[in-house]
Amino acid sequence: MSGRGAYYKNLYGGGGRGGGRGGFSGAGRGGGGGGSQAQQGEGDPKRIKLNNSTGFTRGSTSDLHSLILARDGRPYPAYGDLKGSWTHSTPALSYTFDLLHTQADPFAPPSKARVRFTKEQTGFPSSLWDSRMKRTALSHFLLQAFHDALKSVPSSSAGEGGGGGGGYNNKVHRPEIVIDSPTNQVVERTAVRVDEEGGLEVRFQVALPARGRSILSQPCTHLLTILLPSLISRMLLSSSHPPLAPSTFITSIVQQSQLRSLLPSQNLVAFIPFGAVLPRKSGASGEQGCLVGPDVKVFGEEGLTRGDVYEFELVGGKKVRGMGIRKGEVVVVCGGGFHGKSTLIKAIGEGCWDHVPGDGREFVVSCESVTQVRSEDGRSVTEVDISPFITNLPNKSDTTKFSTEDASGSTSCAASLIEALDAGSELICLDEDTCATNFLIRDARMQMLVSSELEPITPLVHKIQALVKSTNTTVVLVIGGCGEYLDVADVVLQMDNYEVRDVTQRAKEVARQIPSSVAAQQASTFPSSVPRTLLPSSLSRLSSDTRVKTLTTTTIQHTSLLDLSALDSLVSISQTRALEFILRAGASWGKEEVGLKEWVGEVEEMLEREGGLDELIRMVDGERGVGNGMLARPRRMEVEMAVNRLRGAVLKRST
Ligand code: ADP
Ligand code: MG
Repeated sequence: MSGRGAYYKNLYGGGGRGGGRGGFSGAGRGGGGGGSQAQQGEGDPKRIKLNNSTGFTRGSTSDLHSLILARDGRPYPAYGDLKGSWTHSTPALSYTFDLLHTQADPFAPPSKARVRFTKEQTGFPSSLWDSRMKRTALSHFLLQAFHDALKSVPSSSAGEGGGGGGGYNNKVHRPEIVIDSPTNQVVERTAVRVDEEGGLEVRFQVALPARGRSILSQPCTHLLTILLPSLISRMLLSSSHPPLAPSTFITSIVQQSQLRSLLPSQNLVAFIPFGAVLPRKSGASGEQGCLVGPDVKVFGEEGLTRGDVYEFELVGGKKVRGMGIRKGEVVVVCGGGFHGKSTLIKAIGEGCWDHVPGDGREFVVSCESVTQVRSEDGRSVTEVDISPFITNLPNKSDTTKFSTEDASGSTSCAASLIEALDAGSELICLDEDTCATNFLIRDARMQMLVSSELEPITPLVHKIQALVKSTNTTVVLVIGGCGEYLDVADVVLQMDNYEVRDVTQRAKEVARQIPSSVAAQQASTFPSSVPRTLLPSSLSRLSSDTRVKTLTTTTIQHTSLLDLSALDSLVSISQTRALEFILRAGASWGKEEVGLKEWVGEVEEMLEREGGLDELIRMVDGERGVGNGMLARPRRMEVEMAVNRLRGAVLKRST
């Protein structure tokens, strides 16, 4: 929807967003107090400049109401007349409503809007937002509340104006409000943001109603001036929550991230509290949350030894006890099929996120850099040194700078593992369910049958101890089918009917009774790899490359499809959209080759600034992006993993 031209610019203050890099942080204030409403004749609002980034307020929401009614039956583009800021002010509730962008026709992507509050208008005490972590948690809490309330609105009430009958030209397009969907993991999102001053901004999309291509005013006024305030007052104001709900929620999130930061103090990289509920509702149901029912077993202490058990005391005096996973160890998780092995490792893999109370995995925390490695048949690999695992490929390619457009199961595992180490991952999870067997093991018989000159792969089992000891990384490996790993495990856990047991001693005995050749074949060292450089402009040909588009949580349409299905820790399509934006912004991040690590560090530095996601949006979409509420923050691990998988990314490894 470009081409709005100078008219709207003049009308609504093009260039009035002096905020620049400050972005949203300045936007939540100044409109409050209700003192700056415009007086207006119908359809001819006087505009008063506000001291905020949107430029003008055009009047009150009752002015908006009249203006919409006056547009009834007019051609759809006349909705553009509603753009701008409107103040809503009643004794119970006051805020500013901004209609930022209106759709060109009923079939176009929905219009963009937001509501803004000052801290006086929300009434939240500063104890709920006086740290970054609290602001993120409060934002999540409010998003969840808004989302829940929206779900509870019967569609008929949002969509007044009759059924969809009447043929194409008379088809009724119902009004609708859409907001980003929260998941059980608390991540920074642009949909709801509490800023450092306690201001609040909620961004959403509205499908503006129509009959055919004409404005349908009555349902529109209902939506914007009745439903929206009622949603907001029910969901966003502290008075509408039970007194402790937001603070209980925030405290839990703060404690979880504190726990994560305390892991190194006890030399841990992951922690699973006793009482956690790890299994998820079935993937098919699409529901979030833990499995419930009499057969569900909580994570228990009974089968563990004293050495496995750790305790932490957190803010507010909360004590947590659970199983710790130590730094620099090989942890093998064995056990019968269907006994809960994958469920455990998946929970560890997602422990980089804080979980909402009630999820079951709250206080299951892993170090921030945890990654999961799996086979990705067909993935692209660029100049990765996989020579510790793979040499002498039949096509004679140089495996110290291994590149392929079409990796195999084993070469993709090797590349992903090396990349995870390069990215600084301190905890790497592998599950036999999703790893190539020939990457994991090669037993004595196969070694006899196929001579090592003909086998390019040195299996992980021969390297894992050296890897762990020389990099001080922890590897957690689910392996139920191969006892050779008992020789190289520092800790062996068994999942038995969903209960965890430490069977390290017994495993060592078994290894003594039935010796294998693995101990004798251990590599003594594991080389550290040479860092690679990235040509940022290769991430997308143009910074505004509109062909780059997020399709699903795990796919981005790029020059070819970028498959992110191995990034198990991506929990929301909004994070994928942020990755898309990072790739699109890539071109403007320099024409020179930079260290991949340094580049990812720069991205991270931007995201680490408050409002960093908005900075990213501005880089890619400029003014058009204002009010984009559909992004969420990925970790630096996801950023690096996405770049590693991008076909056409120019990555170089100097020798
Ligand atoms: P494995 O990897 O050992 O084959 P999974 O982790 O895939 O087993 O778990 C098998 C099934 O058991 C899954 O459907 C999972 O949801 C369920 N499950 C896992 N942990 C528990 C538990 N603690 N209580 C009840 N059911 C569980
Ligand atoms: Mg499994």
